[in-house]
Amino acid sequence: MTPLPEYFASHVFDDKEMRARLSADVYASLRKTIDEGTRLDESVANAVAAAMCDWAVEHGATHFTHWFQPLTGITAEKHDGFLNPAPDGRIIMEFSGKELIKGEPDASSFPSGGIRATFEARGYTAWDPTSYAFIKEKTLCIPTAFCSYGGEALDKKTPLLRSMEALNRQALRILKLFGADDVTRVTTNVGPEQEYFLVDRDMYLKRKDLIFTGRTLFGAKPPKGQELEDHYFGAIKPRVQAYMEDLNDELWKLGILAKTEHNEVAPAQHELAPIYSTTNVATDHNQLTMEIMKKVARRHNLVCLLHEKPFAGVNGSGKHNNWSMSTNTGVNLLSPGDTPHENAQFLLFLAAVIKAVDDYQELLRLSVATAGNDHRLGANEAPPAVISIFLGDELSAVLDAIEHDTPYAGVEKKRLKLGVDSLPRFTRDTTDRNRTSPFAFTGNKFEFRMVGSSDSIACANIMINSAVAESLRVFADDLEQADDFASRLHSLIQETIVAHKRIIFNGNGYDDAWIKEAENVRGLANLRTTADAMPHLLDDKNASMLIRHGVFTQTELESRCEIKLENYVRTVHIEALTMVDMARREILPAVSAYAAALASGISAKKAVDPLLVCASDTLIMRRLSNLSDAIDDDTRILSDAVTALDEIADTTKASAFVRDQILPKMQALRADCDEAEAMTAASYWPFPTYGDLLFGV
Ligand code: ADP
Ligand code: MG
Repeated sequence: MTPLPEYFASHVFDDKEMRARLSADVYASLRKTIDEGTRLDESVANAVAAAMCDWAVEHGATHFTHWFQPLTGITAEKHDGFLNPAPDGRIIMEFSGKELIKGEPDASSFPSGGIRATFEARGYTAWDPTSYAFIKEKTLCIPTAFCSYGGEALDKKTPLLRSMEALNRQALRILKLFGADDVTRVTTNVGPEQEYFLVDRDMYLKRKDLIFTGRTLFGAKPPKGQELEDHYFGAIKPRVQAYMEDLNDELWKLGILAKTEHNEVAPAQHELAPIYSTTNVATDHNQLTMEIMKKVARRHNLVCLLHEKPFAGVNGSGKHNNWSMSTNTGVNLLSPGDTPHENAQFLLFLAAVIKAVDDYQELLRLSVATAGNDHRLGANEAPPAVISIFLGDELSAVLDAIEHDTPYAGVEKKRLKLGVDSLPRFTRDTTDRNRTSPFAFTGNKFEFRMVGSSDSIACANIMINSAVAESLRVFADDLEQADDFASRLHSLIQETIVAHKRIIFNGNGYDDAWIKEAENVRGLANLRTTADAMPHLLDDKNASMLIRHGVFTQTELESRCEIKLENYVRTVHIEALTMVDMARREILPAVSAYAAALASGISAKKAVDPLLVCASDTLIMRRLSNLSDAIDDDTRILSDAVTALDEIADTTKASAFVRDQILPKMQALRADCDEAEAMTAASYWPFPTYGDLLFGV
């Protein structure tokens, strides 16, 4: 077996390959582009393309593609061959700088939310040199950004890169005030922990709901669920172990730092965590990870379910987005540090995050809003739909002391005067790891836990980066004018704590009392569904902030809002039709058949001796007949509602109709079907049950 260090990143055209294959000049020029965002000239692009092509062909690649992340949620690629005709009638493998830098896919088949008129079907992809090219299935994949003919972003990468740039600009202003002149770049880093379910593929193929929607739309509660809590960190089954090993191999080849893996809380649920990296690379890698998770599962006759809530009543899946900011000199700006000076700087960046999360709660909430994630947020296992920050006792006590100018017990009863007196050395809060908080400080980073498991992490990070950039801008505007920096710094932090402490909550986020307090006492937003959350993207406060930092244009914001709501409506539309189909063509026939079997059993018994007839047979038969009628009614009501939905042209109105009409009717149909399932003989039930799926691997 090849040792890991040798095949790790073997399918990536990374720094090592670049250095080895490019001339010193070309390498230096490309490096400058990667590190500082300078423009690449054509001769350099040609040289890089030629080297990339040689490398890719040596590794068995025959095609290349501009790999991008349109607003569909998955990645897109269109393959082109390297081959070009040679004068002698044979072929040569070639790839030009032009082909590397720019592509022109037909944009008309990707969602644009009204941006792209049909006569402007053309779109452009542009190489993102900050994310390395890689080989997947004999194809050289070049990470790219995707925009319309008119230059509007049609993807997730473009605004993500813009938001990183915005944060960089503002953070540098602050660092300059602290005298950190050696810092030339601030980047954000992310480590996304990915949760997923594995189910047996043969069983999966028997369930239309899983095939069409990725989640179960029916399913009575199994006798055993997760109540014993015997799955979390439990021993990994051999079939799952083989899957994880195979998956790791594939990810490692692509330079993805998959590091930890374990069983999660729910049966059949698992988690994979990579080592963190720069946000845009982490985003690309997470997209690849999800794709490869599904692909590798097939080899093991498994299916990897990435849906946020594949099973009702069982924990759903999320993606913990561990986020931090660091300098090119290696300083983590969210690390409390040892010296008072660094502490003051840390506290200012911390205050920036607190202010950002409070000011732009709606943006954070809507950044993770999807039809799937709505089932998870607010259920008793995932963060609630209310955004709050967990800081831990120690840090909260420090902020409290600063706010009230009172002594902090941890520091010999001294008043905390930032940058002047000594401040406590914070230790990592290892004692209480609050798992119920949507946005938790975990020692030197924040963990945003609301992201859905199937979602791209781009949207969440665009909003975090932009909101924090805005706080830093406000702080920098203020501090740059201050006569006495240290004293203004102190009062600025104090003022920020006073203004935004309502967002800090260290208690149990699952508690109903908290939701009430959050809404009624603290005035925090509780946006339960995508239909509630999404329209806030266009709120004046939110839109103007995103536009000010150059992250989105007004047109892009409108298009994204439209696309997300449309996606919500379409997703539920498909689910509703799938339910109608399964209820009519699978569930009702099964229930009737079983009721008929009971009836003929009863009449057979009667013919021999009426005393043989059991009361329970008759009762079950009657109950099932009643349920059949109810299911038939529910189905018709749901189907009519879908017809009514089709009549609504306005997407915002349609999304409200989905929330208020369609989803409750789906719930009603499901309740009757699940009750019928619990009374129908197993041999009659038309598809695998929760018990089969959850414990079948
Ligand atoms: P858990 O939250 O399950 O205790 P870990 O402490 O193992 O998880 O870390 C979770 C993730 O956080 C990993 O992907 C890790 O690489 C990432 N991480 C660690 N430090 C940072 C950092 N400074 N910035 C961003 N992510 C980080
Ligand atoms: Mg975590």
